Amino acid sequence: MAAVENLDQYAARIERAKAELAKQGLDYLFVGPGSDLFYLTGYDAHLSERLNLLIIGRDGLTAMVVPVLEAPLYAGRESLAPTHTWEETESPAALVASIVGDATGKSIGVANTLWSSFLLRLQKTVAGANWDSGNEVMRTLRMRKDASEIEALAEVARLTDAAFIDFIETAQIAGLTESQAAKKLGESMEKQGLAWKGGIAASGPNSASPHHHTGDRVIQRGDAVVFDWGSTYKGYHSDITRTVVIGEPSEEYRKVYDIVRRANQAALDAAKPGVACEDVDKAARDLITAEGYGEYFIHRVGHGLGLDVHEEPYMVGGNKLALEPGMVFSDEPGIYIPGKFGIRIEDIVYCTEDGSKRFNEATRDIVVMD
Ligand code: ZN
Ligand code: ZN
Repeated sequence: MAAVENLDQYAARIERAKAELAKQGLDYLFVGPGSDLFYLTGYDAHLSERLNLLIIGRDGLTAMVVPVLEAPLYAGRESLAPTHTWEETESPAALVASIVGDATGKSIGVANTLWSSFLLRLQKTVAGANWDSGNEVMRTLRMRKDASEIEALAEVARLTDAAFIDFIETAQIAGLTESQAAKKLGESMEKQGLAWKGGIAASGPNSASPHHHTGDRVIQRGDAVVFDWGSTYKGYHSDITRTVVIGEPSEEYRKVYDIVRRANQAALDAAKPGVACEDVDKAARDLITAEGYGEYFIHRVGHGLGLDVHEEPYMVGGNKLALEPGMVFSDEPGIYIPGKFGIRIEDIVYCTEDGSKRFNEATRDIVVMD
């Protein structure tokens, strides 16, 4: 069997989780399948009716509860958390209770992704415990990306940028449906070795709907077309939006495009250590509002990104969280004029020691396609 890579890195993350548990007054952290489990162990567990559960105790206990038939998938990681398997006829909840022991008065933090069907059973079986959210522990760990994470995010962004450049240089999309145009973009992604997982292609009036479902509308001359897509590399996501125009753009398009582009820059310039997340949103929003388009900027300016496409921190009004070096998030202002067109420009950026830098460098100039 191949050795598991980066075991030391995962071990260090589990140690940090223990320290966070202590800080937050929790005795245990329960982590179900999903990005939190992957972050802590590199184990990409099956999400199914069979319980997989990582247990971390602040006093040093670690345990990985695995259905016996899936134990081979976890093999090699026992030094992080010893395997506790359960057979088809056994109760995994009872196994968890036996691992934790007397839970009376103990506080158990539950990470975000554990199905309620599991949690409800555990709450009955692990008797006497106090149940709480484990999200504070996980977000504290995951919001600040380490060097290996920054490297993966930079690489997936670079490849995604290259795919866009290939797409605009090789594809003709007038006369295609949105779905067909998206497929062309997918082919450019695959040329870069990235899996195509679908994305948003919103044309003409559809571009005024930020999360439009890519469909059968035929792309026409004069259309704005918003492309919002991404892929993954080593588990880490890219997420980028570029808006193109079919044929010569109108004066209004040029004007609005320029405002969105400057708002994207304003958010980047505002983002530095110590600045509240809401002020990154405000920087873009104030600029758009001053230009008279405030009512057409109908979403927050950004979201965190890493092992999940959307994760903390969120760049949104009301979020007082101060940025720290290593935080990664999108910068994606947009203006959406119902019945006409929408324009969004999205880059992934990361907070450095003294400012912020973009991972995405695909052109932000007006792109005219045929
Ligand atoms: Zn996006
Ligand atoms: Zn995004």
